[in-house]
Amino acid sequence: MIIDCHGHYTTAPKALQVYRDAQIAALKNPSGPRTKGVVPITDDEIRESLESAQLKLQRERGTDITVFSPRASAMAHHIGDVETSLYWSQHCNDLIARVCALYPNNFVAVCQLPQSPGVAPESCIGELERCVNELGFIGCNLNPDPSGGHWTAPPLTDRWWYPLYEKMVELDVPAMVHVSSSCNANFHATGAHYINADTTAFMQFLTADLFKDFPTLRFIIPHGGGAVPDHWGRYRGLAQDMKRPPLGELIRHNVFFDTCVYPLAGIELLLKIVPADNILFGSEMVGAVRGIDPETGHYFDDTKRYIDQVTTIGDADKRKIFEGNARKVYPRIDARLKGSRSTGNGGRGSGSTADGARAFQASDPRS
Ligand SMILES: [Zn+2]
Repeated sequence: MIIDCHGHYTTAPKALQVYRDAQIAALKNPSGPRTKGVVPITDDEIRESLESAQLKLQRERGTDITVFSPRASAMAHHIGDVETSLYWSQHCNDLIARVCALYPNNFVAVCQLPQSPGVAPESCIGELERCVNELGFIGCNLNPDPSGGHWTAPPLTDRWWYPLYEKMVELDVPAMVHVSSSCNANFHATGAHYINADTTAFMQFLTADLFKDFPTLRFIIPHGGGAVPDHWGRYRGLAQDMKRPPLGELIRHNVFFDTCVYPLAGIELLLKIVPADNILFGSEMVGAVRGIDPETGHYFDDTKRYIDQVTTIGDADKRKIFEGNARKVYPRIDARLKGSRSTGNGGRGSGSTADGARAFQASDPRS
């Protein structure tokens, strides 16, 4: 079983962007009516959008389940206000729920939160609860910078965020710390803003006692933790000077890195530096880097291939990275996989679990 913890619906049917464009255009008339509207997309359009992209790549690369969320760069929390963000998030999340209903063996859902600059994060609790309790989602993406590159929100360790964390703990869902597009011309979204944010979030976690207040709160820092693995000695030294706990201890139960690092040398460093217990397999396909590396002849984002090639860790650690750690960090995946085994149908049909969500079908023979 190989669980990819990082995938976005970057190939959604055009009607979603048409809706968003109209929503943004309507903001130019502040006195105009504000309605949620509809996004007319058929099941066949959803199938077409996935069969030649994410599903094809899953099959080709030999991965099983993708933790799937709305396109991150399109969250754009800085556009409009909290109502704009709520309607947009609800549509995006509903679409992810439909994907997961059509392909329950291939995708499991993570939601976008209706954040807005200057608005307290507790405003996101309703949508998080709707997604988890009603639609079977297993986590959320949390934008540490809803301003889109101007960093006007308090650090992630500030009590400002605590009401949302309390709900995450209650629901037992983790968050991937994931920024969106940048409206600051200094920061290219996927090339700079994303990696900056990953590094920034890690340093925030290092400097404060957030996890003393929330011992079970869990974050995934994507893109291999940004610059952190390369500068691990710097962060160890800073932690030591600041009388903070050793990094391994500080992140053990709370902070996890994915493997969205290209190329192989980056993965090798990540696996050498960061404890295997704190790494989740991720590829971010179809995502920021879609091309084929002319040096290798393979897709840049085929991170499974990189991990398969690494010889410095054993099979037991690779199993943790491919499956075990994801089941630990996302307990709702674990519950569903166990639920599917207990349905007693030989894995040919989907069962249901205690939380009412769909169970996955047959366990993969490789698991
Ligand atoms: Zn992403």
